[in-house]
Amino acid sequence: MRLRCPHCSHLGTIVALKVLSPTVSHHYVRCGNFECGHTWRASTEADLTLSPSSTPDPTVVLPLSSHIRRDVLAHQIRSGDSVEHKPMLTPPTTRDLFAPAVPDGPS
Ligand SMILES: [Zn+2]
Repeated sequence: MRLRCPHCSHLGTIVALKVLSPTVSHHYVRCGNFECGHTWRASTEADLTLSPSSTPDPTVVLPLSSHIRRDVLAHQIRSGDSVEHKPMLTPPTTRDLFAPAVPDGPS
């Protein structure tokens, strides 16, 4: 991701990142225009779900976009067949999108 310099409008490069929470981060950005040379901090915040995660983190609560057909989505999840799949990148924290979060027990 690149951001526009607020002074010269050239693209800047993110050179450092500080994660404040699962939804909020600070990006430290360097302008790509050597005649400008501005460095700055920008904040990003996830504030809306456009498409629900298949591996939702139960601690992250974002409002759903109004375009999401909640009734159809819920119906498809309840009535669809499932095929076993082991996630390769992000293990799910729950097995069901609408199941209540279960705290981790002793292993
Ligand atoms: Zn600049």
